[in-house]
Amino acid sequence: MMQQSANAGARLASVLEAVAAAAARVGRSTAEITLVAVSKHQPAAAVASLADAGQVHFGENYVQEALAKQDELSQRPLQWHFIGRLQSNKAKHACGRFSLIHTVDSLKLAQTLHKQACIVGVVQSILLQVNIGCEEQKAGIALEELEKLALGCLACSGLRLQGLMCMPPLCADPEDVRPYFLQLRRLREKLEQRLGMVLPHLSMGMSADFEQAVEEGATLIRVGTALFGPRMPRQR
Ligand SMILES: *Cc1c(COP(=O)(O)O)cnc(C)c1O
Repeated sequence: MMQQSANAGARLASVLEAVAAAAARVGRSTAEITLVAVSKHQPAAAVASLADAGQVHFGENYVQEALAKQDELSQRPLQWHFIGRLQSNKAKHACGRFSLIHTVDSLKLAQTLHKQACIVGVVQSILLQVNIGCEEQKAGIALEELEKLALGCLACSGLRLQGLMCMPPLCADPEDVRPYFLQLRRLREKLEQRLGMVLPHLSMGMSADFEQAVEEGATLIRVGTALFGPRMPRQR
């Protein structure tokens, strides 16, 4: 246990140091960048170790797994993010249980969340996931449908639209991902102008490329293996 905590603390420190260095290179303040520790497939004890080292934001991909961990760690003031694919039938259970849902990519999902938010009496903060690489198998709204989806979300009183998220195509060299990050930032600027509102968040960058993401304007970076080490295979 002690060993695990020490490792967690050291990994966290080195990621935060890399974030600060990347921010400094482009003249950004680290205050505008939130590290989301991606704890999918990690036991609650691993989350607790990182929390002991000072980490507050955690990201999960599976609703049931996330809710179980939230319950187990309910004594701690953690903030949970949902970053996985959200099926409409699970959306009900996710609504109101996450500070931010990063992966809204259809009007149907948005409306399911909105209805549930009204029932529970919360306003659910969301990001729109954009299929930035136009990949057929990938989740995310198509670029040309983004504005329509955003307008649909703005019509939902149970939702608070906060920005955009992307999962770019896999690239061997993190520098090859940079153009996608830049593209997401430009998309946000364009959408802000079209909607006449501020969209504060850009969720982009993972273990391999969070430094590039920070340099390109990420406000939320989603980092798993660099903090926790390799993931256990999913328990069934
Ligand atoms: C797993 C996952 C991450 C973290 O990936 P690492 O490479 O382990 O940092 C980030 N975002 C999403 C959506 C994920 O599913």
